[in-house]
Amino acid sequence: MTVYVKGVVFEGVEFEDPNCWHLDEYVKRGGYAALKKIINDKITQDEVIAEMKTSGLRGRGGAGFPTGLKWSFMPRSFPGQKYLVCNTDEGEPGTFKDLDIQVYNPHALIEGMIIGAYAMGISVGYNYIHGEIFEAYERFEVALEQARAAGFLGDNILGSDFSFQLHAHHGYGAYICGEETALLESLEGKKGQPRFKPPFPASYGLYGKPTTINNTETFASVPYIIREGGQKFLELGKPNNGGTKLFSVSGHVNRPGNYEIPLGTPFSELLEMCGGMRDGKKLKAVIPGGSSAPVLPADIMMQCTMDYDSIAKAGSMLGSGAVIVMDETVSMVSALERLSYFYHEESCGQCTPCREGTGWLYRVVHRIAHGEGRMEDLDLLSRVGDNIAGRTICALGDAAVFPVRGMLKHFRHEFEDLINQSQSSKPL
Ligand code: SF4
Repeated sequence: MTVYVKGVVFEGVEFEDPNCWHLDEYVKRGGYAALKKIINDKITQDEVIAEMKTSGLRGRGGAGFPTGLKWSFMPRSFPGQKYLVCNTDEGEPGTFKDLDIQVYNPHALIEGMIIGAYAMGISVGYNYIHGEIFEAYERFEVALEQARAAGFLGDNILGSDFSFQLHAHHGYGAYICGEETALLESLEGKKGQPRFKPPFPASYGLYGKPTTINNTETFASVPYIIREGGQKFLELGKPNNGGTKLFSVSGHVNRPGNYEIPLGTPFSELLEMCGGMRDGKKLKAVIPGGSSAPVLPADIMMQCTMDYDSIAKAGSMLGSGAVIVMDETVSMVSALERLSYFYHEESCGQCTPCREGTGWLYRVVHRIAHGEGRMEDLDLLSRVGDNIAGRTICALGDAAVFPVRGMLKHFRHEFEDLINQSQSSKPL
């Protein structure tokens, strides 16, 4: 369910209208005006990138890297092929925003990618779509056809000498393919495993060529920025946290769904928009940025605003914007058991600390959750985490450790209580 509040990605979208995703409807909402502005006014590549830098748009996939800066890394004078890739491999538990962009407003993404390609001098792009959302893939293919037929995509766009070919690619559903270099490997037809870095994709990306990769929501924000100006976008949010952002709210709220709100909105307001806590229960904790973000207890979360800096200051991450709300009935040991299982299951197995360590984390939390825990297990969890974090090829290792650290930092007493209970109930 999508709940539009106030934002740029879903600006003017009538979700109840089954045709809202069609080209005609998008154009009525001001769609492709940004592309026309660039082509007709002969806006230069440098000017587009400068506007993106002014906007303060930070990557919406999780890392929060400034988009304008990333675009400036592309070696535009590189003589061979360069690629633009959209990462729609949305697989982080709790995240479902990119799916809604694909379903309700695919042309915003297409227009954003065309503008990106123009700014970086790229002629070929791919949208890598998560394998479990086939409907979105099919709809995107139709939207591509509509854009081609209207002259927005393909050769000599809008009569200019700028050409850009954009293709959809259906992934296979592995979480790790959301890691950008694993995604590139998969796109090349290989096993989706992360690459060692450096070199980074800006210099050695798809087929070894310079490649820029951005998230779906990032690209879908671009048309507004170019049409209305980077400054206006920036001012929608707060300094260093420009614009609006989609938050996928799930868990124990009355109205779970996607909420597009200005960065810097207090969490308490977001909770109110979601209809408050389900069944009148008390808020216990929140995972504010997808399953890899450390959990925050209710009292800390209620002081936070929904932006990169506030959540980081509180000791967690805004990440992909997946807000998992947990009420007073949730066992944090069980929650961590589920999270640890996910990362163990999704490890690609390429490097030892992650392959073995995620299994250790899961098995230790599992035995605590099932009455077999020992008090030493809590230190063991910390030690195993220390031997994973920062010692792996990609960030999945860290992602498996952060939830463990967050739970032990704020809810250690629940783990201790469960261990004490299970030890005292054992026969002497
Ligand atoms: Fe694979 Fe895990 Fe190593 Fe990433 S950290 S490359 S997922 S084994």
